[in-house]
Amino acid sequence: MTAATFDVVVIGAGPVGENVADRVVQGGLSVAIIESELVGGECSYWACMPTKALLRDAAALRAVRQLPGAAAAVTGTLDVNAVLTRRDQFASNWSDDGQVAWLNSAGITLVRGHGRISGPRTVTATAADGTVTTLTARHAVVVATGSSAALPAISGLTDVQPWTSREAASARTIPGRLAIIGGGVVGTEMATAYSALGSTVTLIARNGILPNVEPYAAEYVVESLTDSGVRVLAHASPTLVARDASGSVHITLDDGTVIDADELLVATGRKPNTDDLGLDEVGLPAGSWLSVDDTLRVTDASGTLVGDGWLYALGDVNRRALLTHQGKYQARAAGSVIVARALGAAVDDTPWGLHTATADKRAVPQVIFTDPEIATVGHTVATAAKAGLRVRSVEYNLGSVAGAALHADGYAGRAGLLINEDTNTVVGFTAVGPDVAELTHAATIAIAGEVPLDRLWHAVPAYPTISEVWLRLLETAAR
Ligand SMILES: Cc1cc2nc3c(=O)[nH]c(=O)nc-3n(C[C@H](O)[C@H](O)[C@H](O)COP(=O)(O)OP(=O)(O)OC[C@H]3O[C@@H](n4cnc5c(N)ncnc54)[C@H](O)[C@@H]3O)c2cc1C
Repeated sequence: MTAATFDVVVIGAGPVGENVADRVVQGGLSVAIIESELVGGECSYWACMPTKALLRDAAALRAVRQLPGAAAAVTGTLDVNAVLTRRDQFASNWSDDGQVAWLNSAGITLVRGHGRISGPRTVTATAADGTVTTLTARHAVVVATGSSAALPAISGLTDVQPWTSREAASARTIPGRLAIIGGGVVGTEMATAYSALGSTVTLIARNGILPNVEPYAAEYVVESLTDSGVRVLAHASPTLVARDASGSVHITLDDGTVIDADELLVATGRKPNTDDLGLDEVGLPAGSWLSVDDTLRVTDASGTLVGDGWLYALGDVNRRALLTHQGKYQARAAGSVIVARALGAAVDDTPWGLHTATADKRAVPQVIFTDPEIATVGHTVATAAKAGLRVRSVEYNLGSVAGAALHADGYAGRAGLLINEDTNTVVGFTAVGPDVAELTHAATIAIAGEVPLDRLWHAVPAYPTISEVWLRLLETAAR
């Protein structure tokens, strides 16, 4: 057993843990980071990077095929092995050497092992060989342990050894028939990827496809998946799953239909990595998502700070926005406020202040890399209504925008703004169409900046680009 004291102890070296550690070191504090698997976390090896690498070649091929001259140059089919090899490179071949080298260069102490809160400001790290290191934090302990795939209660499910997003992101071969349970972002992205890579895909969803985006955006994706041969069952519930002696999986649905597949991917949501984190030491139930205050300190169910405010939770584990960029934004806010509190400097916890993650509640950008892509920022009609905002919605057909029509023959897509009637500012943006991902940041700036519509009028989109849709949306709003 060894022991050491640092200013800050971070549990979990995913993108969020790495970022907060870097921030506090840059602020002059010492930091230890504990990691039980690979430094870099889910995003680097089993989520963002490998899944987007699986999708990228097919997207590029589709883009070329929408331009007759360029299409004439494409004579072959997708080279699946080349796609998988490039995917492997983007997952760093599941080696964290590069990220460990970065931790070292940044002055962050890495402790390999499973971290567990063992008392006030104290964490024990148990390495694979049983070695225990006790780490005490002078100022803060940060939980950045992320999330894992949650499996639904379906009879026989665990016996068939289903894929989760991890297996889908790292598969070495493409199954002939892939069934996917779950119509959210992971389910639709992987249906897009595996269909393009040669699998016959069945997508099974209980509550519709992409139920959290504007319905018009989801419709484009459903139509495209169907056109590319994916069987989409948008309102079906699996009741029984079994694998036979030949290795085939059979999924029985609530209406008696049986889907046969070679592999089954379950993409029905996430659970927090807090099962064995010592939450009982701070009076919280094991396995729970961690609630936080405006400066990302852990609170209990009544909103009261846990301990005297030494425990922070960032990234997926606080369930604010399960996205890498948003977790890293939280890390920047939390890193700064931890340093400020340690040095006795002023804390700016006002909305949009340096030490608060205000955008988590107002301006979260997300790109869904389906065919076509969906870009969203801030509210949808449904979430605005839930938040009690008085909004009006304007939409525009992207295919009628000159820049989009030039971008690809037969360009099809739609974009919409949600305008807060009381403030005359944009509070929500959605676009669906080829290559709309890059429209996201303009919307993020408009929403986070609370730019009034009459000032947005002066933000002139360059001609001829897909961004011209901004002008068309503003003209539509002015009518
Ligand atoms: C298939 C898929 C695709 C995705 N694609 C995107 C995308 O394109 N863009 C995007 O923004 N987001 C994407 N996400 C979400 C993104 O992966 C997560 O939001 C991000 O990884 C969260 O970062 P994190 O640091 O909070 O957690 P994680 O990345 O999960 O990292 C947590 C780390 O903590 C470690 N850990 C856990 N418990 C302990 C413990 N007790 N002791 C020590 N170490 C511990 C884990 O091993 C892990 O390394 C995707 C998610 C999935 C599943």
